[in-house]
Amino acid sequence: MPRRWVADLLSDTLTQPTRAMRSAMAQAPVGDDVFGEDPTVTELQRRVAELLGHEDALFTPTGSMANQLGMRLHVEAGEEVIADSLAHVLRAELGAAAVLSGISSRSWAAERGRLEPSAPLGLMSTGAGPYQVGTALIVVENTHNFGGGTIQPLEAIREVRAASREAGVAMHLDGARLWNAHVATGIPLADYGREFDTVSVCLSKGLGAPVGSVLVGSAEQMARARIWRKRFGGGMRQVGILAAAGLHALDHHVDRLADDHARAARFAKAVGAVAPSVVGPQRVETNIVMLDLSETSWAPAELVDAAGARGIRTYAAGPQGVRLVWHLDVDDAGTDAATEVFVDLLSR
Ligand SMILES: *Cc1c(COP(=O)(O)O)cnc(C)c1O
Repeated sequence: MPRRWVADLLSDTLTQPTRAMRSAMAQAPVGDDVFGEDPTVTELQRRVAELLGHEDALFTPTGSMANQLGMRLHVEAGEEVIADSLAHVLRAELGAAAVLSGISSRSWAAERGRLEPSAPLGLMSTGAGPYQVGTALIVVENTHNFGGGTIQPLEAIREVRAASREAGVAMHLDGARLWNAHVATGIPLADYGREFDTVSVCLSKGLGAPVGSVLVGSAEQMARARIWRKRFGGGMRQVGILAAAGLHALDHHVDRLADDHARAARFAKAVGAVAPSVVGPQRVETNIVMLDLSETSWAPAELVDAAGARGIRTYAAGPQGVRLVWHLDVDDAGTDAATEVFVDLLSR
């Protein structure tokens, strides 16, 4: 058993499936999905494709696999993907695009991960013949994880889309937390989705499912992705048992993300009042709070340990930051407790 924390803000991947979710999983009709015969998986794929404004979808065991399939569809071996330097596809998928697909990459720097159209458009390189690596794909992450839950402006995405399309460069959205961007802004998921050739979304972050992600795109792309998913070892059999958790999450756990955002904002406001250099409400857009310790005497690991000793689990993110993530299993009481601890530690 993991240690019981007063508030576990390490990650939104930690959520325990609720009783109702487990019940939905137990009752799901299933079949062999490698043969396309699992009705619950088929229903999940249909629903997510529709929500994101795409033709078809493919259920995957992880978000990393959904991203890797998305990249594989658009980039030939020896071509490149470009993304910001904090992007999950470049930092947290262990070089999979290079190892599995022969894809090379370059990156641009982005303050808090925020997309500025001139950065990818300036970096993108096409038509240099046999002299330079050609850019085949731009990846955008929304919300941005290591950036601190940053929401990408739709106008910036549209600007990149228009110019890259003209240049014949595809776009993939790492939408692991696109649900959070949608709930925070009220912008329909499909308005984001339609700006990209393919989109990955996670069911196992804030939505609270134990496992699973979904890739969306055209029917032709999803047919090719299905082949590569099997090749990567991700063809699953009676997996409707997991897809049922995702369907339950879509019905019950999307709108409530607003509670996570409100709690993160409340924490940031209180902590910012005693330590304005560390965090401010204007820097918290969704469920992630990034504390900037550069103007304090705290090292991230020390602050994580001090909060941990008082029952609050957080994550040391880089040389100057501590990350806190709100989710289904952190309530108002947990938020109050975390606030009290951090106000106390940071006002010393
Ligand atoms: C969690 C996450 C993923 C996928 O991670 P898996 O652990 O492979 O499911 C992809 N992108 C972002 C931004 C993430 O936060």
